[in-house]
Amino acid sequence: MLDLTRCVHHPAVNETGYASLAVATYRASTIVYPDPHSFAARHQRSLDDYTYGLHGTPTTRVLEAQLTALHGGERTILVPSGQAAVTAVMLSVLMPGDKVLIPDHVYPPVRSFCRDYLKPRGIDYAVYDPLIGAGIAGLIDDSVKLVWVEPCGSGTMEIQDVPAIAAAAKAKGALVGCDNTWATPLIFKPLAHGADFACEALTKYVGGHSDLLLGSITVSDLGLRRQIVTTLRGMGIGVSPDECQLALRGIETMGVRLAHIGRVSEDFARRLAQAPAVEAVQHPALPSCPGHEVWKRDMGRSSGVFSIALRPVADETLQAALATLKVFAIGASWGGTRSLVAPMAVAGERTVSPWTRQGTLLRISIGLEDPQDLWADIEEMLHALKADVAKVA
Ligand SMILES: *Cc1c(COP(=O)(O)O)cnc(C)c1O
Repeated sequence: MLDLTRCVHHPAVNETGYASLAVATYRASTIVYPDPHSFAARHQRSLDDYTYGLHGTPTTRVLEAQLTALHGGERTILVPSGQAAVTAVMLSVLMPGDKVLIPDHVYPPVRSFCRDYLKPRGIDYAVYDPLIGAGIAGLIDDSVKLVWVEPCGSGTMEIQDVPAIAAAAKAKGALVGCDNTWATPLIFKPLAHGADFACEALTKYVGGHSDLLLGSITVSDLGLRRQIVTTLRGMGIGVSPDECQLALRGIETMGVRLAHIGRVSEDFARRLAQAPAVEAVQHPALPSCPGHEVWKRDMGRSSGVFSIALRPVADETLQAALATLKVFAIGASWGGTRSLVAPMAVAGERTVSPWTRQGTLLRISIGLEDPQDLWADIEEMLHALKADVAKVA
């Protein structure tokens, strides 16, 4: 073998006795075959086999299997983002003439996708009150093929009665897709509550470090899995093993991270409910939160995202108050180690269940800083708001 050949042929090394706790990162485009016959027959390989790097490597399969186990499903499909998890389901099961129902508190880019992409292509959508429960039956006509749920709206925080909605959808032959990002499979398992698709933005709590983008769809039905895989392969969509490796590292600590931030978020929510500058705290663990009883029944635990509706203040006051924050950062895409606040424009986004609070809605995502530092930061912000609240009131 000459040098140029040596450069591209990696020598085999001894792997005996090599046992690591880390998942190896297998990158590939080409998959090679032992002989021409198996190459010619590659399309007969099952979806669980390897045919091409875009369709999976052992690294991506480990993450899929781990999410499948956590969700109690049959298979998981990985996609490049949480948003892609939602759209992959919609693009796979909806045909022109069909309709999808989405809740009014849906992750806003999903509403935009329905309005700006599906609708012009002949797939209709309707928006429903997130608290509709079994009443959704009245909205499901023959054209409705998919009902979308977000068990906890990650801005306004209403908790949906997923079992009741799923039962009504099933009775009329519609599928149910669930965006489970707020809860993660540690707090809520959508497939066990009647959903057909359990979607996660792994970008958030699974990744856990604000440095990756990935999504997942877990199903119990292999036919649905094939439908989605066929759509994604047709579109040429796959995920990077490097992203999956980061997610596999993040998922190891998700349990302790969530337990901690869930406790802190519940504690802060109770304290914030007493603050004069705060009109209402939207946190599923508070009895005042719409759907609190359903949360107690189906979840019973919290993650780290909740919102506070501030009493109305002048815009300069709000800006000055937010500028006092030293530990919280301002930004979206929560779920990392850093605590975040994000002022939300909710009222303009609602169409069937109007948002009537006048003041700004501040979404808070608790991270892993010392809770004392976080609370001191919040107190300073509240103090900066208080003077003006007194004036406006
Ligand atoms: C962040 C988020 C998404 C989208 O995830 P990306 O990976 O950022 O695309 C979808 N749904 C919910 C509820 C989210 O919070």
